[in-house]
Amino acid sequence: MAQENKNTSNIVDFKKELRDRESEIELLQDTFRLVASELNLEKVFDIVAKRAIQLVGAETLLIPILDKNNETYTYRAGAGKNTNEIIGESLPLDFGVCGWVWKNKKPWWRGTLKELDEKEHTQWEKEAGTLILVPLQGRKDFLGGIAAINKKNSLEFSRRDLNMLTLFAGIVSIAIENALAVKELEKTQNSLITHQHKLNILNKQYSESNKKIEQLSLYDSLTGLPNRTLLRDRIDRQLSIFTQNDEIISLLIIDIDNFKSINEALGHDKGDQILIEFCKRIKNHLKINETLSRLGSDEFILFLPRTNLKKTIIRTNSIFNELKAPYIINNKEFNVNASIGISTYPENGKDRKTLLRHADIALNIAKKRHSKYHIYNNREDETDESQINLSIDLNNAFNENQFELYYQPKIDIKSNSIVSAEALGRWIHPERGLISPIIFIDALEQYNLIDKYTYNIIESAVNTINQWSKDEHNIKIAINISTHTLMDPNFINQVKKRIPDFSISRKLIFEITESLFLSDHEYIFDTLTRLRSLGIELSIDDFGTGYSSLSRLKRLPVNELKIDQLFIRDMMTNFDDQIIVKSIIDLAHNLGLSVVAEGVETQEILEQLKEMGCDIAQGYLIAKPMPAMEFEVFLKN
Ligand code: C2E
Ligand code: CA
Ligand code: CA
Repeated sequence: MAQENKNTSNIVDFKKELRDRESEIELLQDTFRLVASELNLEKVFDIVAKRAIQLVGAETLLIPILDKNNETYTYRAGAGKNTNEIIGESLPLDFGVCGWVWKNKKPWWRGTLKELDEKEHTQWEKEAGTLILVPLQGRKDFLGGIAAINKKNSLEFSRRDLNMLTLFAGIVSIAIENALAVKELEKTQNSLITHQHKLNILNKQYSESNKKIEQLSLYDSLTGLPNRTLLRDRIDRQLSIFTQNDEIISLLIIDIDNFKSINEALGHDKGDQILIEFCKRIKNHLKINETLSRLGSDEFILFLPRTNLKKTIIRTNSIFNELKAPYIINNKEFNVNASIGISTYPENGKDRKTLLRHADIALNIAKKRHSKYHIYNNREDETDESQINLSIDLNNAFNENQFELYYQPKIDIKSNSIVSAEALGRWIHPERGLISPIIFIDALEQYNLIDKYTYNIIESAVNTINQWSKDEHNIKIAINISTHTLMDPNFINQVKKRIPDFSISRKLIFEITESLFLSDHEYIFDTLTRLRSLGIELSIDDFGTGYSSLSRLKRLPVNELKIDQLFIRDMMTNFDDQIIVKSIIDLAHNLGLSVVAEGVETQEILEQLKEMGCDIAQGYLIAKPMPAMEFEVFLKN
């Protein structure tokens, strides 16, 4: 009976064990199936923890995972008792059983104690009985482990539990490794997206400030009209559009009579008020396609496409009508008169420059004859007296060495030391006295004498460099190179001819203007690169007034950027200007260019520029342009 009972209980035990084994295998298979297709790390952890706790009958199950720093591990998931307090906790790797498992790359259980030396035995004894921890080994790296704590019903974990959990860990480790990798990928992708996002914002800011600079540099700040630069672009563009249809186009230069005396009599503020009102009146009657822009202080240009001579005359008279009414200033009435010079396409010229020149001549004739307006007549170009005089005078100027170079210092803002000098042309006319370069450079260009003039001043600057070097002044000289000369096919050779060696060319800076970048890019790039290879530094002059797209500059081998004095002058009172100056400085620095501020007239502006990180300053505050000899004296003081 007893035997039978024992047999029966054996069979029951055996059946139970079989069932347990079957359900264990089922659990393992099921787990494997579940995690194999799961890439979400949190879900994988959840499945693993819940299955493992069931598998070994533990009170608590934890999954410690090695952190990326390889110095700590974090309990990333768990199931059972007290896990909430532990999950998320990070511990140093050499702390606790986890560190032991990581170091020894084998599972920990109570039996492990037997393998330890006495010291370790004592150290780990307390933790041993209640814990098994099996390693999670990925394909390449050690991932962490699965820890089962406290067998239920106050039992101890058996070797079988250890083997089962080891088998289980082997099955799920690859799934955990994959899910960890996916998570990591998502993280970097997210940071990539945030990076991309930040980059987009930066790019947007960049293009906005660029736009802002362009906006402010293409429009006249007083009247809001397109300025000379934008006008040039518009005329060129419209000429190419309208001329395809054999259209007649008229160009009107409108000039206020005696504006100088109005300004002097009423003051600049009132003068500005009149200018604003004046152009408002014309602007109010503009038709589609007509463009009004400001050419200079009291000169405006009106561009009339799709017209003919008769229509132009009617339009001109309507403008006079609009301008006729008196202007009220300080409750008093003022009459402001204007004169208009007109040229038409194709009759008086086929390109912008010729049309503008002829409209200008027509304007002078209108003024001389007090005839309100004058339409250019093709016979007038050659017979205009003042033009002939100027051309004779210019030729004399060369023969009699009437041109001279004045020098204006540029200082390093941080150290306050003079780093270079800009050479500025002066024409000492025997009868008219000192003539401004603004006038004679234009005239030289018009009479095709600018190349000759530029090569002369290069020679003269080289002599000055030699002279200053003898006196041990280590100062560079900047020369203004007009675009016309830079485009001369012989330019590089002519420059080379005048520069004896590298020690001189190293001290030369060529200032070029932005308008250059509208021309043939390849050719300019080549020329600039060759200048750089001679050791000559390149500087972009009057930056901000032209087509100031910095992205275009990025590709050119230039060293320096000069912010136009227009922006510097009003910097302390005009917030827009301040923003422009600051963004030009920042953007230029990003492109590796050094920045010069021109027209620095007050200490306050200099301080502000210093704060903004501007590198170099030039302006009346430091010194006005002066003859070379005087400059030497200035250097010694
Ligand atoms: P730029 O190259 O922009 O030269 C700076 C102009 O600003 C100079 O006028 C200079 O005297 C003036 N300036 C300097 N600091 C101040 C300041 O603090 N306040 C004010 N209100 N003005 C200041 P400048 O000498 O009359 O020359 C006018 C322009 O003529 C130059 O402008 C340059 O474009 C052109 N230029 C002068 N010399 C030459 C030359 O040799 N060749 C060529 N191609 N152009 C020249
Ligand atoms: Ca210049
Ligand atoms: Ca300038």
